Amino acid sequence: MMHLIMLGPPGSGKGTQGEMVAQALGLPHIATGDIFRQAVKESTKMGRKAQLYMERGELVPDEVVVGIVSERLKKPDCKGGFVLDGFPRTVAQAEALNGILLGLGKKLDGAILLEVEREILVERLSGRRVCRQCGATYHLEHTPPGEPDRCDKCGGQLYQRKDDGEETVRRRLNVYAEEAGPLEAYYQERGLLRIVPANQPIKMVFADILRKLGRGQ
Ligand code: AMP
Repeated sequence: MMHLIMLGPPGSGKGTQGEMVAQALGLPHIATGDIFRQAVKESTKMGRKAQLYMERGELVPDEVVVGIVSERLKKPDCKGGFVLDGFPRTVAQAEALNGILLGLGKKLDGAILLEVEREILVERLSGRRVCRQCGATYHLEHTPPGEPDRCDKCGGQLYQRKDDGEETVRRRLNVYAEEAGPLEAYYQERGLLRIVPANQPIKMVFADILRKLGRGQ
């Protein structure tokens, strides 16, 4: 039983590592960004609202995100724990998560913070490509697909996220920088913060995370 959150700036590897940790521990990987992108694709009412903020690189309002997470964590697959990725992003969201977990009789076991320097993040985000079908991510130089523009996992088409364009990336990093300090302090004060240097190969970051969760070799 493990209830984890992944913290870190856009491009720090939350999605990649969150998925790996979830697989290793047999837990669902819940990424709020993925939930929003799916809703945008399906053009639901919530998706159309979220899209306005996402395209500008801004945060979707707390009440929308909190409602979604609250519903998602009630699902039966979260009984044995979860890996939350992209939430919380603000102290208000962290407090809301606390309330949600309290209501479910659960508590957080750890907040994994992936740390990467800003210049590296810009490079990682601008080279990122995502599968339209399954959401798998690649990097044109570091983790390229076998065939150009095709997903190795499902054969789907790869595309560049609209919010991975240079200007929006800068905006997203600034938004992160504003909220990061207080959010990290929030989990530090509660003894939950596990800092992992994430400017290393994917496998090494993963091994470090497992070690810091007491699951490593
Ligand atoms: P991500 O895939 O985590 O980079 O998220 C993509 C976009 O979805 C963000 O830039 C926000 O606009 C929105 N989003 C995802 N998670 C949250 C959240 N917890 N709070 C507010 N907005 C979010």
